[in-house]
Amino acid sequence: MADSFWLEEPAEPLRARVSEGGVDVAVVGGGVTGLACALTLSEGGKRVRVYEARTIASGASGRSGGFALRGGAMPYHRARAMLGAEQAAALWRLTERTLDRMEKLAGDALRRVGSLRLAVDAAERADLEAEHEALRDDGFAVEWVDKPAGRLADRYPGALLHPRDGALQPARWIRRLAAAAADAGAAICEHERVDSLDELEAEKVVVATDGYPSGLGALDEVVRPMRGQVMATEPLGERLYERPHYARRGLDYWQQLPDGRLVVGGRRDVDLAGESTSVEGTTPEIQTALEALIGELVGAQPAITHRWSGIFGLSPDDLPLVGPVPGQDGLWVARGYSGHGNVLGLACGELVAKAILGRREPELDLFDPARLA
Ligand SMILES: Cc1cc2nc3c(=O)[nH]c(=O)nc-3n(C[C@H](O)[C@H](O)[C@H](O)COP(=O)(O)OP(=O)(O)OC[C@H]3O[C@@H](n4cnc5c(N)ncnc54)[C@H](O)[C@@H]3O)c2cc1C
Repeated sequence: MADSFWLEEPAEPLRARVSEGGVDVAVVGGGVTGLACALTLSEGGKRVRVYEARTIASGASGRSGGFALRGGAMPYHRARAMLGAEQAAALWRLTERTLDRMEKLAGDALRRVGSLRLAVDAAERADLEAEHEALRDDGFAVEWVDKPAGRLADRYPGALLHPRDGALQPARWIRRLAAAAADAGAAICEHERVDSLDELEAEKVVVATDGYPSGLGALDEVVRPMRGQVMATEPLGERLYERPHYARRGLDYWQQLPDGRLVVGGRRDVDLAGESTSVEGTTPEIQTALEALIGELVGAQPAITHRWSGIFGLSPDDLPLVGPVPGQDGLWVARGYSGHGNVLGLACGELVAKAILGRREPELDLFDPARLA
């Protein structure tokens, strides 16, 4: 009950690699970011070792709501106001390309069923209208839904359909990514926590721990940990939701799985102070609020089979910190996705790897840690 539903799926053992001596790059963190980075570096001919304190996917990457969304943590029209039209479009295009790449790597762990972002009131509807207009003006695929179907019609006055988003079985996806990295030559060491950079025999170190404090001085003071709680129900008798749904600016989210279960998360605003922590665990306040949400979404109270939580990293400006850490030679970082790291994590892990391989891409400028460090 206390662990992620996703992680319960049996895992194939990872290909064992003899790994001794120094490496070109040590990667700290065995989630989407670290493994994406390891895969690209290994394909580029670098000797790579991944260190994961627990097991592959045991961090946020195996505990999330499983939404694979394009874009950043902020809506598109805000990104345009913040970054300018050209840079915002570049960020959205990067994540659309990354979703296509994820589809190739993830196989049946990703379903491209789209996502539905719902407005809970008139203010949120106005916000969605502004985002819809901005996306359409810039040529991105998006559909306005005036009246969501079924039980939602009276609760949510408007929604945006993002047709090319997807739904993940996140643990299956991350384990596949780990297998691909191992096949490309990366050594993956589970149950190996790194306590000091001095213990690593590596030319470069990439810290990819998102909201989990690394203890390695890799901008731990800039990225604020936040807990998210999630639950899964027994399979429901009917199909209610065809794609991932999220409302209240992402504070409520749910998806129905192919076997009929509903996975529901969020409601951290019930106790924001209590959820501002790097300690995993569930609390009665949030769990009760999530059960109430399930009641509203289903019209009945199905049995809860799994309850879990995970930690994600908030960045002060909602953009991740990705690149070399200022003033620390050889230390790189990719973290701080502000709750939106499933696709961005893949993109940013790859951006860091390419930069280390000497193939720096212009999108990296968007995330330069120097802006906040
Ligand atoms: C409840 C929840 C729901 C979410 N839902 C979504 C969603 O639906 N869509 C979305 O896009 N994003 C979502 N997110 C955010 C997303 O899951 C994360 O941003 C993303 O998975 C981060 O991946 P990562 O590889 O950077 O970090 P993680 O997957 O968190 O991996 C970091 C790893 O580093 C390890 N580690 C930490 N310190 C050390 C050390 N010193 N030595 C060795 N290992 C160490 C940890 O054990 C951990 O496994 C959610 C997050 C949570 C918690």
